[in-house]
Amino acid sequence: MSKIIVLIGAPGAGKGTQARLLQERRGIPQISTGNMFREMKNADTPLAHEVQSIMASGKLISDDLTYKIVRERTSKPDTAGTYLLDGYPRTAVQADQLEGLATEQGKTIRAIEVDVSRDELLKRLTGRRSCPVCGEIYNIYSKPPKVDGFCDLHSDAVLDQRADDSEEKVTVRLATYDELTRPLLDYYERSGRLKKIDGTGEIEDIYREIEGIV
Ligand code: AMP
Repeated sequence: MSKIIVLIGAPGAGKGTQARLLQERRGIPQISTGNMFREMKNADTPLAHEVQSIMASGKLISDDLTYKIVRERTSKPDTAGTYLLDGYPRTAVQADQLEGLATEQGKTIRAIEVDVSRDELLKRLTGRRSCPVCGEIYNIYSKPPKVDGFCDLHSDAVLDQRADDSEEKVTVRLATYDELTRPLLDYYERSGRLKKIDGTGEIEDIYREIEGIV
């Protein structure tokens, strides 16, 4: 039976990195609600402006809108088999809506927790910078550019910080995770569908662990 793999972890745990690898190497479609909202917010519509302002605050978009975009995305042919959700579900209501969707699609749900300490998360998020030209990601603590504030590959490109990676917004995002998303771990654990992995260490080691579960 095809599966819906759910990656759960605080912002900065590395879910997106691992999801991308699974997509590249195993062809498992990565459905990232965060990426879908980031694409959506660039349009010039009232809905896009609303999405933009909620995202910039570090809070969550409504469950119903989020469900709608997940449902729409997972009705495309490439998700007929196993697919992976990165950043969804994030609330109890979303988890419930996903149960219904899984039943409808004839799939089973497997959840993987990517666990990273709070100190490490803070460094990863508030230290993250990216090149506006090529998208290369840096971290001022763990992967600094050669010249402070500038891309190694595009020497005149000033590195960007995501609006929601400021210290203030990161605090909101982590608190939102603790309050609304962390309880889902219990929910999947109780139904025997949760595996926990350590999200610190080498990307390749973490990948191998996740691949073993998938
Ligand atoms: P992410 O890149 O996964 O950290 O998501 C960035 C932002 O997109 C979040 O802070 C939320 O505002 C929004 N978002 C992403 N996924 C969800 C979700 N499942 N439910 C509600 N909002 C979401």
